[in-house]
Amino acid sequence: MSDIIYTKVDEAPELASASFLPIIQKFAAAAGVSVGTKDISLAGRILATFPEHLSEEQRQSDDLAELGRLVKTPDANVIKLPNISASVPQLVAAIKELQSQGFALPDYPEAPSTDAEKAVRAKYDGIKGSAVNPVLREGNSDRRAAKAVKSFAQNNPHRMGDWVADSKTRVSSMSEGDFFSNETSATLDAEATVKIVLETEGGETVLKEGITYPAGTVVDATFMSAAALQDFLAEQIEQTKADGTLFSLHMKATMMKVSDPIIFGHAVKAFLAPVFEKHGAAMADLGVNPNSGLGDLLARVKDNAAIMADIEACMAARPPMYMVDSDKGITNLHVSSDVIIDASMPALIRAGGKGWGPTGEESDANCVIPDNSYAPVYDETIKFFKENGKMNPATAGTVQNIGLMAQKAEEYGSHPTTFEIAEAGTVKMILEDGTVLHSHKVEAGDIWRSASARKAPIEDWVNLAIDRQKAEGCRAIFWLDADRAHDAELIKYVEPILQAKGVADKFEIMAPRAATRASFETITEGKNTIAITGNVLRDYLTDLFPILELATSAKMLSIVKLMNGGGLFETGAGGSAPKHVQQLQEENHLRWDSLGEFCALGESLTFLADAKGNEKARVLGQAVDAATQGILDHGHSPSRKVGEPDNRNSHYWFARYWAEALARQNSDAELAAHFAPIAEALASGEEQILSELAAVQGPAVDLGGYYHGDATKTAAVMRPSATLNNIIG
Ligand code: NAP
Ligand code: MG
Repeated sequence: MSDIIYTKVDEAPELASASFLPIIQKFAAAAGVSVGTKDISLAGRILATFPEHLSEEQRQSDDLAELGRLVKTPDANVIKLPNISASVPQLVAAIKELQSQGFALPDYPEAPSTDAEKAVRAKYDGIKGSAVNPVLREGNSDRRAAKAVKSFAQNNPHRMGDWVADSKTRVSSMSEGDFFSNETSATLDAEATVKIVLETEGGETVLKEGITYPAGTVVDATFMSAAALQDFLAEQIEQTKADGTLFSLHMKATMMKVSDPIIFGHAVKAFLAPVFEKHGAAMADLGVNPNSGLGDLLARVKDNAAIMADIEACMAARPPMYMVDSDKGITNLHVSSDVIIDASMPALIRAGGKGWGPTGEESDANCVIPDNSYAPVYDETIKFFKENGKMNPATAGTVQNIGLMAQKAEEYGSHPTTFEIAEAGTVKMILEDGTVLHSHKVEAGDIWRSASARKAPIEDWVNLAIDRQKAEGCRAIFWLDADRAHDAELIKYVEPILQAKGVADKFEIMAPRAATRASFETITEGKNTIAITGNVLRDYLTDLFPILELATSAKMLSIVKLMNGGGLFETGAGGSAPKHVQQLQEENHLRWDSLGEFCALGESLTFLADAKGNEKARVLGQAVDAATQGILDHGHSPSRKVGEPDNRNSHYWFARYWAEALARQNSDAELAAHFAPIAEALASGEEQILSELAAVQGPAVDLGGYYHGDATKTAAVMRPSATLNNIIG
């Protein structure tokens, strides 16, 4: 196994790797550090799943499973780039492309009937959605802006929309019947095997059995009442109309892949309630499933003039909707994965509370976030800005995050124990000795779920927070609500550890709403604070604060301290930027910023030095930090426009600053001597290299595939400078 694993992924980050990885490998080799790859791309995972359909040469090893084992060992040192969390349409497109390249894969069975089809479907469903991160994240999360990145943002503040006190933008969420208000939680005092049953008048149905939790696991159960949700949505649609704002719904249908598409479906039904009342049966015959969104619904009913006319009349009577793409008429309710709360809410807040309406105009919005567990964070943010005006990124301090994440903690691990209830009754969670851990009376259509968090990850998380606070010396807040069942159980872990370590006075514990206000107050004064949060807030806050502070979450340092001692270094908190690929294909310009990779690389090399006592790796890592600083100081991040320097240019500058820093340092003379001529060649070749890079931009390029591109063609596109390639090899 290589010293460092660099993941092979999809879309823009994978294109960037075609240019950047050869540079890393060349430089690392000088310190005796090997950098290998493991394929966790969507196409790679599909190929690894169906060896029996492929020829000997076409077969691919299951790299994700291998990495899943590696991250449980102290030897792990993985640089993880963002990969596609595939929706069904993406999965189907990837299968089609691979089939067209001669891989005899089975089709994705949309409606499996035979056992064989069901088996294929189950395999494909294992690849769908967020299937990679839960396997690799065997540790808790430490996310923050590197010092260089934060000071760059302060010196070059991005534009923020103005917030006015009388903005009509607001957040609405349920006051009863939601996951928040129905939650119960208990900590297991011994290992237990649990079953989940639905008791109805007619008898008992087992929803799930044989789930084993170790002693000390915090196990929650809760449900969202479908009736309460329907009432709430109907009320909010009316209220939005009365307010004269846009109706917007913010969910996390990618990560919460079972519950949130159902909640989204309720919103589609509520918005078109009169149409469903009148034409429900006919629409069902046409295969309409509201959970698939308004886009799918319209496609299915488009030839029925009566339904179409009633939809039009209904929409005209409704408040205008928040749009995904007003030019193309794509609304918030078209596809459940288009509006993702952790990206959509910060974007709207950054814009001064404005969203895009149907005619392309900006407008205030009612931000509907049905469950009240985390909605207060956005609500309080909006209230804070209404009172104080927009934040100033030039002077604001920073909010770092320590997040509980390991071993599928909390809601993000709850899909296998989430159920849409078929029939009224009581859902019980029962231990093998007959103890009833949780019991909830439910109605048909309610969404019941159980989430859990294990003892070892919780303790590791608290200790990580203690280390981080010690390193920073700043304000540190556990975002836990003593009045919420789950959080109260966590507090029972947190307080004794803080006391035992004698650091209780360094930490505060606050409910999310109060913590939000306290954090904004702190950073407004130019000071820093650490948000110590559960898994969902880890995800939300590491977009919210970076987007306000730095304009993007893609530049974050994102470290996963693996519980068994290894290191996993994620490159930023953003995704794989599909729009960037489109631009490259159309005009050979890649606007992807590799800053996340630069930061992760520096951390990975330093980690290697600490873990293996490789001092050359430490020197290499320090020089990476100098190179990153150089990129920022000299403005060599990629431009968004064709004809201007792009991702490939930034890699040239990175290599140059990296080599110069290595040639300059005096901790390792051998490395300095090795890199002096490389630095010299990169400097003297500057003009030639930049002109070779500039010459290719403009025309469309062919990568030989989208999900499974041709490596030779991609390398030719991403490494167009013969002069640079000569130096790098
Ligand atoms: P996204 O890829 O983060 O892209 C949103 C926008 O953020 C991009 O269009 C781009 O803005 C900007 N952006 C993100 N990273 C950037 C970078 N390094 N440099 C410059 N700009 C950057 O979010 P998405 O469109 O919601 O998700 C796309 C795919 O990524 C999905 O398949 C999703 O599942 C996956 N994803 C993976 C991870 C992960 O593996 N950790 C995390 C999140 C999402 P402009 O277009 O304005 O340039
Ligand atoms: Mg996020």
